[in-house]
Amino acid sequence: MRILVTGGAGFIGSHLCDALLADGHDVIAVDNFITGRRANIAHLLSHPHFQLIEHDVIEPLDLQADQIYHLASPASPDGYMRHPIETHLVNSVGTLNMLRLAQRYGARLLYTSTSEAYGDPLVHPQPETYWGNVNPVGPRSCYDESKRFGESITMEFIRRFDLDARIVRIFNTYGPRNDPGDGRVVPNFIMRALRGEPLPIFGDGSQTRSLCYVSDLVRGLIAAMNRDAARGEVINLGNPDERTILDLARIIIDLCNSPSQVEHRDPRPDDPERRCPDITKARTLLGWEPVVPLEEGLRDTIAYFTRYEDRAPRALVDH
Ligand code: NAD
Ligand code: UDP
Repeated sequence: MRILVTGGAGFIGSHLCDALLADGHDVIAVDNFITGRRANIAHLLSHPHFQLIEHDVIEPLDLQADQIYHLASPASPDGYMRHPIETHLVNSVGTLNMLRLAQRYGARLLYTSTSEAYGDPLVHPQPETYWGNVNPVGPRSCYDESKRFGESITMEFIRRFDLDARIVRIFNTYGPRNDPGDGRVVPNFIMRALRGEPLPIFGDGSQTRSLCYVSDLVRGLIAAMNRDAARGEVINLGNPDERTILDLARIIIDLCNSPSQVEHRDPRPDDPERRCPDITKARTLLGWEPVVPLEEGLRDTIAYFTRYEDRAPRALVDH
């Protein structure tokens, strides 16, 4: 199959490209590198079945494909708060462009939404039926609200035009190729622990996240794309192993054998207090569940960042 991956030079997108190529597909990655990194796909550029198109999906694109994975969007809080308008546009206009492209060529589409669609959730864990608790004008709203818009317009194409599309809500995902400078909790903690620097904890650290290793997530994306039963559905993908941020800091310090301490900072505005996916639907509809335990995934990620830290000049990775 000929498969388009928007955001293909990003953290998750590059792993997805690897997996699709390994399955024998022709893969076209479309990326404007607003938050992606060339290093993520450098190893693919000479692959005979891989093509990179540098393009902003806010602008129309005419390209035949059998499947479209629409991942393009800044994803880290630092990334989307630095590029709020671009984030609004890629999840609205960019998603509309991808839906039209899928319609034109009869392609199947998967839209990657986020657990942020639930905001600071009042229902725990979060099932897909929960409508969320989102501040529509807060600093995170460029991301939360544009992803919610992206979901809404995708559902309109499904209802109005019978488009073969599905939506996944991805919960916090980590692994090799996480951008060490984008401020997300796992790369930031690991980089600081490797350097023996304090790990900043926003607030008292009692807030929770449920972290999914990237290989599990990519397997879930591919299952959601290819299972007919996922057509027209919204499906959570994440690992329900919920931890406090303080526990996560301690585990990373321990796994890195680091002398680092934690350092409490002011809480972030609108920072969700708890987050954990209910993955009953993914289990039943896709036969999917994560299999990589947190400590094992963190070990692989630490090994990646250890190599990165060895290669990169400090100034380039400072956050
Ligand atoms: P990332 O920032 O590493 O990758 C996103 C990619 O999209 C980047 O390569 C970026 O350059 C590209 N991009 C952004 N705007 C674009 C545009 N207008 N045109 C073309 N390319 C554009 O982030 P990621 O973690 O790999 O996230 C991928 C997707 O998964 C995003 O849609 C994100 O919202 C979603 N998601 C990720 C997580 C997570 O924990 N990583 C959680 C929930 C949802
Ligand atoms: N966090 C933290 N220190 C950091 C980075 C993040 O305490 O250096 C906390 C952040 O306040 C949030 C959680 O870790 O509660 C996850 O943050 P991240 O930016 O990775 O993603 P989010 O889930 O908020 O989108």
